[in-house]
Amino acid sequence: MTQKQLISIIVPVRNESLNIPILQKAIQKRFTSLPYKYELIFVDDGSRDNSVEVIQTLMAADQGVRLLEFARNFGKEAAVSAGLHAARGEAAIIMDGDMQHPPHLIKDFLMRWQRGAEVVVGLREYSQKESWFKRWSSKQFYKIMGKVSDTKITPNATDYRLLDRSAIEAFKQMTERNRITRGLIDWLGFSRDYVRFEASPRLHGKAAYSYKLLFRLALHSFTAHSFLPLKLAGYLGILILLISGPLGVYIFLDKYMLHNVSGFNFSGTALLAVILLFLVGIILSCLGLVSMYIARIHDEVMNRPLYVVKPEESAEQIAEKLNEEEAGAA
Ligand code: UDP
Ligand code: MG
Repeated sequence: MTQKQLISIIVPVRNESLNIPILQKAIQKRFTSLPYKYELIFVDDGSRDNSVEVIQTLMAADQGVRLLEFARNFGKEAAVSAGLHAARGEAAIIMDGDMQHPPHLIKDFLMRWQRGAEVVVGLREYSQKESWFKRWSSKQFYKIMGKVSDTKITPNATDYRLLDRSAIEAFKQMTERNRITRGLIDWLGFSRDYVRFEASPRLHGKAAYSYKLLFRLALHSFTAHSFLPLKLAGYLGILILLISGPLGVYIFLDKYMLHNVSGFNFSGTALLAVILLFLVGIILSCLGLVSMYIARIHDEVMNRPLYVVKPEESAEQIAEKLNEEEAGAA
């Protein structure tokens, strides 16, 4: 048999010293029964506990463990990116370090990858144990996001994902600074498959993402994947113009030309108010116009690759695939 393929497991960690050895053991055990080698990349995101020492101790015992140490806390998104940049495997699996992403699913991810999926996404099923507010807010988030976003976002998709080498290479081309990793991966496309799982509660320690942070993250997702908030002012302006314009004309005619046929007896102040409203409408719609240009600048500055191509296949590979399909059909 040829050499075993290498799989990178990327784990962003911040203050997870109690969870790290448990995760490492679980991974090591899983891979003994799998036809792959692994490298377990811990990206230490400025931990304040002894996570780094714990990882270093593990490195002595397990050749597969690698450590990337951030100089300070840069956030999970940055940590995952760093892991993907450093990954050497044929595929990379991203998972949380708090055992909320069950390691026993790794074989499912790998199986789907072997079947040809280039991105495998873990879909989280919310258990009843989760607070109703968290379940509700998550549902609302995906509902709104689905409506306003320019890229398709799958509900309940988590960061527990597998990326094929081709997807990793494409990901590396992204240079935008404020990033939501899963949004970027969704943007990439590629053929996908899903693994459903119920997240277990965090093993040790407490979650870093408070509601406030989650809200910020949600807001950021909106602005990074949709221009709707930016266009909102413009739409509002146009709406105001459409209402106040005809209303102003109507009041003017009624007051000065038709001498109060409507019976409303409009005052001069009413006319003034409508004129002011009209001007506000003009200002807002101009703002909308300006924001269209800002949207373009935003798009340029994000500097995403123009397109993402799949790896080129040789003639033999295509022939092989066709053969397989024929065999499958028969
Ligand atoms: N994490 C990180 N940097 C941070 C916050 C969290 O690398 O600033 C890691 C954390 O160690 C864990 C993962 O990201 O491995 C998910 O974090 P957490 O469990 O706090 O979030 P939640 O499960 O609530 O999404
Ligand atoms: Mg967690």
